[in-house]
Amino acid sequence: MSDLSTLDITYLPGVGPKRAEVLKRELKIQSYEDLLYHFPYKYVDRSRTYLIREIDNSASHIQLKGKVASLNTVGTGKGQRLVAKFTDGTGVLELIWFKYIDKMKKILDAKSEYIIFGKPSAFKGTYSIVHPEMEKVDESKPKIASALQAFYNTSEKMKNSYLNSKAIQKMQQGIFLSFKGAISETLPAYIVKQYNLMILDSALRTVHFPTDAKLLEQAQFRLKFEELFYIQLNILKQKTQRSKNIQGHIFGKVGDIFNQFFFNNLPFELTGAQKRVIREIRNDVGTGHQMNRLLQGDVGSGKTMVALMVMLIALDNNFQACLMAPTEILASQHLESIQEMLKEMPINVKLLTGSSKKKEREQIHAELLSGELQILIGTHALLEDVVQFKNLGMVIVDEQHRFGVAQRAKLWRKNSIPPHVLVMTATPIPRTLAMTVYGDLDVSVIDELPPGRKPIETKHYFHNKRNNLNQFIKGEITKGRQVYVVYPLIEESEKMDFKNLAEGLEYMLSAFPEFKTTMVHGRMKPAEKDAAMQEFASGKAQILVATTVIEVGVNVPNASVMIIESAERFGLSQLHQLRGRVGRGAEQSYCILMTGYKMGEDTKKRMRIMVDSNDGFEIAEADMKLRGPGDLEGTQQSGLPFELKIANITRDAQLMQHARNVVEVILENDPDLIKPENQILNKQLTKLARQKMNWSLIS
Ligand code: ADP
Ligand code: MG
Repeated sequence: MSDLSTLDITYLPGVGPKRAEVLKRELKIQSYEDLLYHFPYKYVDRSRTYLIREIDNSASHIQLKGKVASLNTVGTGKGQRLVAKFTDGTGVLELIWFKYIDKMKKILDAKSEYIIFGKPSAFKGTYSIVHPEMEKVDESKPKIASALQAFYNTSEKMKNSYLNSKAIQKMQQGIFLSFKGAISETLPAYIVKQYNLMILDSALRTVHFPTDAKLLEQAQFRLKFEELFYIQLNILKQKTQRSKNIQGHIFGKVGDIFNQFFFNNLPFELTGAQKRVIREIRNDVGTGHQMNRLLQGDVGSGKTMVALMVMLIALDNNFQACLMAPTEILASQHLESIQEMLKEMPINVKLLTGSSKKKEREQIHAELLSGELQILIGTHALLEDVVQFKNLGMVIVDEQHRFGVAQRAKLWRKNSIPPHVLVMTATPIPRTLAMTVYGDLDVSVIDELPPGRKPIETKHYFHNKRNNLNQFIKGEITKGRQVYVVYPLIEESEKMDFKNLAEGLEYMLSAFPEFKTTMVHGRMKPAEKDAAMQEFASGKAQILVATTVIEVGVNVPNASVMIIESAERFGLSQLHQLRGRVGRGAEQSYCILMTGYKMGEDTKKRMRIMVDSNDGFEIAEADMKLRGPGDLEGTQQSGLPFELKIANITRDAQLMQHARNVVEVILENDPDLIKPENQILNKQLTKLARQKMNWSLIS
């Protein structure tokens, strides 16, 4: 059996160089195999042939069998059309063509019997079908029987080259008819058997030409399983290899620094979840394996404290530590709060960002090399090659969805033995996505908020409530609270964005002359931004008008009201992040979502979820369902290892878990995949990786 991935689609009968070019450009189809893996997006039941007298208004696509009784061209110019009267003895129906008139006139004859397929519509008491699919009944021609007709996605450009769904189907048929042998299996035989899967050959035939719905379901199951299986195998194999081959620093002891902090400096009792996570991390770093751990914790759950205490363990073992944040504001907030928590402890902590002065920078570089500098906090600036450590043992990445996998890997290389890595995120990652994109990381979860937090009250207002809202703002500020007002950021038109924000500022200034209002946005210089933030954080300004630059991590516990303008323009996760800026103190906090009256269904759903739920995980799941996984922040850059053509990581979450379990058992029995029956797995992994690379080169 030849390898279908090496057979050029150009040579499939009916294709040729021109169509091959279109297939390649539009669908990335180059080989027979690529075509077989171009799956239908829907099926229509053709198991039944209807009689013309049975047609009623409810009919969608149906199949009929009969003869052409007459053929006439009517109308002129653009209105010109070919009309055929079609009959099966029980009634008459009109078939209409606006295009291909000459061609159809030549092809159709009165003697032959035809199977036609299309969607009838009623006009003045007569039914008609425009541009029906039509085929002569010819018992002698070989044909694959299929009760459910597959429909394939095509593009305008493809249709211009006569590559419609029907043409694709014919090509699929061509492949199956020319290959009498079986298409080679891509899963180990024992797996196919053990999990009762349809073999690949039958699954591919069935998915393109299903004979019944039940078999179709089995075929789809097999193909989806395989896709998810290889994604999991790829991730878990890497993870197994890494933990086997890469040594990690051993942090053998909890020493003076940690203990001194724990007994003298801890400003509050740790939550149970914080304690558990610190324990999990301590176990990891004691094993001699390199830690790669994802720490998930909703906004305000106290991840910074965990980060600090973990860094102190590194210090106790004579290693340096660094903490990387996505923005300068956040990095300097981390520096401040960490310095405050450390009080008089003699620990050298410094900040390095893009705007650090040359002299500071040089001093930091020198102190890092000598080992004097123990904790470095900063932004992307930490990744630069000039930043070299004497002995880096622990890297913490905050709000990791802003960093790509490649950037994480860069940090690894900052020591000959890679440092332990803890990635912290407040964007709760839905389970399926965590299993897929971050499936190589161990996961810890802080599932508990510090005590005394009151759930944030969320309300959705239309603009007509503006006066009530202003009264409410006045009341809260009079009680001593502070208020955020956030405007959306439109990437395509920064100018318009700025206009919104500027107008917003003007409005707040005129509505609240008695209070101080300040503003931050992404285009300010870091120093200006910091000054404005400082004004708000210190309580000098009561109102902060901002774009989403404040979305991540900003901590002003006295701020208790978050107003989100044009809330319809934000995604759910982003709304939740923004809301997380309030509710950090002991006071009752509020989040007000402002929208216009006109809202799409999606927007209505989003607003309802926000009003109803404070739970980040619930919101992330809902977000993924609404938007689809491809859209979630972080997925584009981290990406899936292989493209999914039939499975869907939201809908097929359960199957993904199943595939992961199957893979885990395989790797437990054969971690290096050396057993003969598992060679097929190595082969397939290599092939998938090569395909992915080829396409990333071409497209
Ligand atoms: P996030 O997980 O969003 O980064 P932070 O680390 O900024 O959260 O913590 C939010 C606030 O909660 C901070 O003001 C922090 O000092 C406080 N906090 C953290 N842990 C506790 C705790 N165990 N008890 C009380 N307050 C805590
Ligand atoms: Mg944080």
